[in-house]
Formats: sequence, C-alpha cells, structure tokens
Amino acid sequence: MDCIFCKIVSGEIPSKKVYEDEKILAFYDLNPQAKVHVLVIPKKHISCVDEIDSSNSETVAYIFEKIPVIAKSLGLSNGYRVITNCGDDACQSVKHLHFHVLGGEKLSERMA
Ligand code: AMP
Repeated sequence: MDCIFCKIVSGEIPSKKVYEDEKILAFYDLNPQAKVHVLVIPKKHISCVDEIDSSNSETVAYIFEKIPVIAKSLGLSNGYRVITNCGDDACQSVKHLHFHVLGGEKLSERMA
C-alpha cells in the first residue's frame, strides 16, 4: 500500500519520533501548526475515523491512553488540543488515521 505513514512505521521514510511501542508511533509533524505539533498513529493501517470498528477500537483507546503520557513528556502541562481529520471535507491529506496533538502555546479558539 502506498501510504506515507505506513512507510514511516516501517522506517522507509524518516521521522522525528517522540514515542514508539509495538502498537503506536508518535512523531513531529513536518509542517507544525503550533509550537508543539506531533502526530500519534496506529502502526496498523486504519484509513480514518470512518474505519474504526470493534476490530480496531482497542488500538484507538490505547492511543488515547498514551496521548496524555506523550503530552506530559513534551511538557504540555498547560493543556493541548487533539484533532483528527476524516475525509475530504475535513481536508484529510494522509489517509492513515492520525491524531494531531497541538500545544506549547495558547491556541486559537476557532477550530475550523
Ligand atoms: P491531515 O491533513 O490531517 O491528513 O494531516 C496530515 C499531516 O501529516 C499534516 O499536518 C502534514 O504536515 C503531516 N505530514 C505529512 N507528511 C509527513 C511526514 N513525512 N512527516 C511528518 N509529518 C508529515
């Protein structure tokens, strides 16, 4: 499958990793939209939120257990935002489920 994030998982494309274990990977976004901007992804390909079901929701729950741990390791003690885009209207550009974790500064009140 021609998926950039699968290639980051396999190491074919380099990334600046902040957390990794057997199920998930977190790395810095190439085009940061906040002082701190990392992406948290499942290693196993899921295209977007639309594809979450009982066969993979355990991994998604696991990601949300790890996001606070990752945020703490990044020093985001004053809060952060978690965003996921799904589909064309949301401008999802990489079709591998990912959660943007943004912080390190006061973010805009607008989300869209
Ligand atoms: P989205 O628009 O929600 O699909 O977000 C995709 C994100 O992936 C964007 O913020 C991109 O900057 C980021 N991105 C794309 N390619 C890479 C890469 N090779 N390494 C790190 N981040 C990437």
